[in-house]
Order: sequence, then C-alpha cells, then structure tokens
Amino acid sequence: MAENATESLLVVSAHAGDFVWRAGGAIALAAARGERATVVCLSYGERGESAKAWREGKTLDEIKTLRRGEAEAAADVLGADIRFLDAGDYPLLESQELTDQLVRVYREVTPTVVLTHTLVDPYNGDHPAAARMALQARILAQAVGYDAPGEALGAPPVFSFEPHQSEMSETVSAGARSSSPV
Ligand SMILES: [Zn+2]
Repeated sequence: MAENATESLLVVSAHAGDFVWRAGGAIALAAARGERATVVCLSYGERGESAKAWREGKTLDEIKTLRRGEAEAAADVLGADIRFLDAGDYPLLESQELTDQLVRVYREVTPTVVLTHTLVDPYNGDHPAAARMALQARILAQAVGYDAPGEALGAPPVFSFEPHQSEMSETVSAGARSSSPV
C-alpha cells in the first residue's frame, strides 16, 4: 500500500452531502497519497438537504436510503471509508451519546488530521453543532481515563471547511490550527 499509511484523515460531516463538495479534493488527495481517509456522517441530511426527494413524495426511510447510497458512492470514488451515525438533522441535536460515538471513531482511526465544519454558520445550525461535537470528541479521546476502547489520542490538528459564504463563517481556533476555508 502506500508510503503514507500512518497518516489518517478524519472528516466529520453533519449531513451526508457535506463532505463531498467541502472536502472532496482533500479526501481524494489523501487517498491518492495512500493515506487512510475516513468520513463520518452524523446524519443523512434527510430532512434539511433532500428537498427534491421530499417533493417526489418519498418517505423518510426511502430518503435516508437514497442519501446513504449517494454518500457511499461518493466516498468510494474519493477513496474513503464512510460510516453513518444516523443522528437526525434539522436539527442535529448535540448529545453526550453522539459525542461518545465520535470519541470511539477517533480512538479507532487515530486521525493525524481532522476536517470539519466551521464553528459559526448563520445559515445552518447543524454545521456548528457538528463542529462542536467533533472538537469535544477530539478532546475527550485524548484523555487517558476516558472510557472508550483504544489508546488515548494524540493532538491532531483540526481544519474547518466552508466554501459556501465562507465570509460569514468562523474557522476553528483555540487549541487547534485554523486555516482558510478550503
Ligand atoms: Zn450540511
């Protein structure tokens, strides 16, 4: 496999479609370098980002299945492993349970870099919620005493992505490196 097999990119995506156009290039690049790339979709975007399917009269379950298939196909093209936590959207509710699930992903894939949403997005509350949980899970995963399988995490840098109206968004800062929106 690749020369960079120890590098591991983790992308935390609020909705199933977010990672595709916000981080697709970074994921493809990581995969092309032989790095591990993992996408976690906290929801399918089934309520807030599936307008066409609702207008076609599809049911909630049908829409989730549709969105899951689309996201899996996208991840396959990009070269990433993908998983879904099915936490619901609009609103995506923050919870300790969901954060704990993310901690377990961190401990499992031991990311060397993390990409997620911005902490401020006046047009979509689910995106900052995902970012807050991604950051909190990163901190918890670093705690040796936190009760989750695996070794305590190092301190992977976190970068924010938001190409849509990026001037209205705020990237991650405290405790993690920030970057211009991708
Ligand atoms: Zn979204």
